[in-house]
Amino acid sequence: MTTETAQSAGATSTGASTITGARLLARCLKQQGVDFIFGVVGFPITDFAVDAQREGIRYIGMRNEQAASYAAQAAGYLTGRPQGCAVVSGPGVIHALAGLANAKSNLWPMILIGGASAIAQNGMGAFQEENQVLAAYPLSKYAHAIERADRIPYYVEQAVRATIYGRPGPAYLDLPDDVFTAEVDESAIRYAPVVPDPPRSAAPAENIEAALKTLKSAENPLVIVGKGMAWARAEDEVRDFIERTQLPFLATPMGKGVVPDEHPLSVGAARTLALQQADVIVLLGARLNWILHFGLEPRYRKDVRVIQLDIAAEEIGTNVPAEVALVGDGKAIVGQLNAALEQAPWQYPVETTWRSQLQQKIDANALVSAELTADRSTPMNYYVALQAVQDAMPRDTIIVSEGASTMDIGRTILMNHSARTRLDAGSYGTMGVGMGFAIAASVVNPGMRIVAVEGDAAFGFSGMELETMARYNLPITTVIINNNGIGGGLTELPKNRQSPPSVLLPGARYEKIAEAFGARGYYVTEPDDLPGVLAEANSGEGPTIVNVAIATQARRKPQQFGWHT
Ligand code: ADP
Repeated sequence: MTTETAQSAGATSTGASTITGARLLARCLKQQGVDFIFGVVGFPITDFAVDAQREGIRYIGMRNEQAASYAAQAAGYLTGRPQGCAVVSGPGVIHALAGLANAKSNLWPMILIGGASAIAQNGMGAFQEENQVLAAYPLSKYAHAIERADRIPYYVEQAVRATIYGRPGPAYLDLPDDVFTAEVDESAIRYAPVVPDPPRSAAPAENIEAALKTLKSAENPLVIVGKGMAWARAEDEVRDFIERTQLPFLATPMGKGVVPDEHPLSVGAARTLALQQADVIVLLGARLNWILHFGLEPRYRKDVRVIQLDIAAEEIGTNVPAEVALVGDGKAIVGQLNAALEQAPWQYPVETTWRSQLQQKIDANALVSAELTADRSTPMNYYVALQAVQDAMPRDTIIVSEGASTMDIGRTILMNHSARTRLDAGSYGTMGVGMGFAIAASVVNPGMRIVAVEGDAAFGFSGMELETMARYNLPITTVIINNNGIGGGLTELPKNRQSPPSVLLPGARYEKIAEAFGARGYYVTEPDDLPGVLAEANSGEGPTIVNVAIATQARRKPQQFGWHT
């Protein structure tokens, strides 16, 4: 299509009032519930970002497209509607693909809007020309170029629906420059209907019955709560189900908080034993992927029986055949289980060997952790640093967490009380998501102090987003658990500077990045100073960085199995 045809597709010669494709896109996104767009402006999307502001969308200008695309998906997960990311053509889109991949793996909604060179210049070697739809396609649930401005409402509706119906995921829309600038006759625009929130599909009654029958036959039952239940807003139903049945449960990393971590029936602190010895698992909105060790031996019993609830029928039976499949929406189906239990109440008995085995393990693990937390030596270990972060944590906050040991150990120490209050490296194991996630959490929850707990290596991916946080005066505390490297570094660089690959600059003063932007930075080396500094950093306005020097060779307490086995 030529520039002329792209423009004539929407324009008329009647002298009627017209709007540009860019403005129409902003309007359609707003109508469909896109309230936030994160991006980095430049050719050809600067005017679009301004139009988005005019249409009442909050535009957050970031420093790197990767971070912007991470922010958009976290905002989508938190709000329940896809939020937007707008990036320039070519390199901008390529950088943002990282976010699409992460959203596709995490099953989070977002819409990436990629500016593109003019259709009229396709194939000519245009400025930043790239076949962006092709690049985005394998990483998206829906990817399309908008070839005519008057079709914008249609494509936006398609993209929004794809992101939140069925299994959530990302969408990509390609916006060539000549479509952005095309004038559309306002009176001729056919707006698409607003996409309603996804329908909540229930399971057949016989499957509910079968699930409860299997459950009642269990000796060592275990409920696993995944982030699918957080996305489904099923927290009331899952809590009710746990209370009614008195079943022991554990949460996946981002399933934490659907039922509070501190609930007496939580066996998160005996995770390995619980997974290994359970004979019936009620798998609620979680995949048996690497995070759950595939559901296979030696991490599980060979004969483990699975009751699997998932919105995606194709997920049922992945890695382990499901004895009972509950296909549909988590909120609806756990509601059905509760209704059946209301009719015919059943509880897992109070006194069982299984319960006491789990409790013994929880108590033993608590002793080891308490010992590590009590160690006041300098430099600190992870447990001392993270326990201080937990003690200083505002109760109603969102915890962002990434890094290797920082995240794994943090998972057991940092407590979540509500659903969707933990954002971490997730299903894709992506490092570098933290700053974008924290910014998203903050703009979606104005006034809430967000706490991002970052390994020093993870922080390095997007440290410049401190400028974004400072510019918008976002109350975000970034705690950097600094061991001088990727999985631990050195206290000093070798004279010839030929360090092992995992080494980062010893004693790097990351908190000074905050100071560069007029924000507060703190450097802590002594365990006894940490509580006071964290309390200060968590109060007042704006972003803060607390750079905590820990032992370069600090480790996790010995595990029966490594996390990745
Ligand atoms: P986790 O990382 O917590 O284990 P996963 O992302 O691996 O969680 O799995 C989440 C699962 O939840 C996915 O298989 C997804 O299809 C499912 N899911 C997503 N939305 C819903 C919903 N509304 N109801 C039920 N299951 C859902």
